[in-house]
Amino acid sequence: MRPAVRPDLRRLSGYHSALVDVEVRLNTNESPFGPPEAWRTELTAAVARLDLNRYPDRHVSALRHELAQHHGVAVEQVYCANGSNEVLQSLLLAYGGPGRTVAVFEPTYQLHAHIARITGTDVAVGQRTDDHALDLAEVARVLADSKPVMTFLCSPNNPTGRAEPAEVVDAVAALAPGLLVVDEAYGQFARTTALERLKHERPEDAVTVVVRTFSKTWSMAGVRLGYLVGPPEVVEACQAVTLPYHLDAVKQEAGRLALRYTAEMEARVALLVEERGRVAARFGSLPVDTWPSDANFILFRPRNQTASAVWNGLVERSVLVRDCSTWPGLSGCLRVTVGTPEENDRFLEALEACLQ
Ligand SMILES: *Cc1c(COP(=O)(O)O)cnc(C)c1O
Repeated sequence: MRPAVRPDLRRLSGYHSALVDVEVRLNTNESPFGPPEAWRTELTAAVARLDLNRYPDRHVSALRHELAQHHGVAVEQVYCANGSNEVLQSLLLAYGGPGRTVAVFEPTYQLHAHIARITGTDVAVGQRTDDHALDLAEVARVLADSKPVMTFLCSPNNPTGRAEPAEVVDAVAALAPGLLVVDEAYGQFARTTALERLKHERPEDAVTVVVRTFSKTWSMAGVRLGYLVGPPEVVEACQAVTLPYHLDAVKQEAGRLALRYTAEMEARVALLVEERGRVAARFGSLPVDTWPSDANFILFRPRNQTASAVWNGLVERSVLVRDCSTWPGLSGCLRVTVGTPEENDRFLEALEACLQ
């Protein structure tokens, strides 16, 4: 007899984006721009000096130190992992598990609930309003009913696009009984950040943990590096569930050196924000509903056609976007990542042709 996998895993389908060979890939919210050439040169030289026969720095000291300086926090407040998804997994391994519950508000980033379920954690699901905003009465109801050990917010929210106003995050922190995890994968695209909360936390509020990634704004999705900023006890809890030497030496250098190119990152973000405005404006003259975005993607819903017809029409024109129409609360919706000006033009032309 072959061993059976955990019965609760059999109900889960993986989280994957479509793999289609196209010229314009606007489906996974990566940066369309590579990291700076000077960073590449520095990294190559640094890698040549590494003792790769030795295990990497287990405490990730240099990278955590630089990240702490970058955010003006103590090194004990920073935990790094292989992408922010692994940060989320560490949080769930440390604080979740059987008999424990976390809360999410749909539509939101699918992996919060997905990784929770993989770790055997129950998921309490609240609903956002029709325009995808958080409804504080609904938040209060879900948190009171489920008493979650962690409440997840995503700001800006993937895939709907808006950043949560600081007052809303403050209000959720006042209601949440455990940790408040704010996933800021797109943080630098927005004007607000929950990192501000860390400086003036009230003891009666939920403890705030902010999760960030190098995958989007830093143009380093291929490197797989993410981190959290939060209280030292959360960092220690995450370290306790982390495999020894999980963060390789090359990645530690890559992240450390990237922080020397913060101005270049901010310039790429500014360009994408400008392009986002241009794409959003063009949506205004097309038969689609859209929602305002504080990130590098825009959610839209064709008014006169199904999402899959438009998705297929775009693929025929070699443009790939994300079909979100089967996600909770997003029927008929597609999500487009903001690309280079040329890619955005290709997308807009193709979309116009599909909608005619
Ligand atoms: C893209 C994304 C991430 C990034 O995950 P990595 O593992 O760091 O690549 C995390 N959270 C959200 C909401 C995202 O959209």
